[in-house]
Amino acid sequence: YTGKTGAQLLTEKIGKLTVKNYQSIPVVVNESASVYDAICTMFLEDVGTLFVVNRTSHLVGILSRKDLLRASMGKQDLESMPVNIIMTRMPNITTCEPTDLLLDVAQILITKQIDGLPVVNFKETDGETKMEVVGRVTKTSITKAFVDIANNKIV
Ligand code: ADP
Repeated sequence: YTGKTGAQLLTEKIGKLTVKNYQSIPVVVNESASVYDAICTMFLEDVGTLFVVNRTSHLVGILSRKDLLRASMGKQDLESMPVNIIMTRMPNITTCEPTDLLLDVAQILITKQIDGLPVVNFKETDGETKMEVVGRVTKTSITKAFVDIANNKIV
């Protein structure tokens, strides 16, 4: 018998949940895609955030619903407007790694007031650090973890 209270055991369990067990599939668009294409992708794939990648499939930007709404408010032609002029770009992108704690991600989502983070693996190429997008962790992922904890599904 450990002498730990129920609350202590619960805290321990929550502190062990990692991103890799709750991440979902990332939806990406190329940086040369149009705002119109991005809107279609967001509807078809049923996600709230798109990740923008370059020719070599490395992360260069993020598009939220509001980014696309804002771009649509003007009189510009959405089919000829590339997403890279409206996206949030590096170095302003907050990312996480598969081994990060879900609790740390939840804190970041609250502090930065955003809906989700891209899950990335860092790759060293030509002396540069590139990010390969491997997943997506969102408020929905955190909600799933919350329900798992309540249903005692965490071992
Ligand atoms: P919405 O704008 O649809 O409510 P968010 O709150 O997630 O969605 O996004 C708010 C702003 O923050 C947007 O401009 C978006 O590009 C940006 N953003 C979203 N996720 C991230 C992230 N992981 N890192 C940096 N910026 C982000």
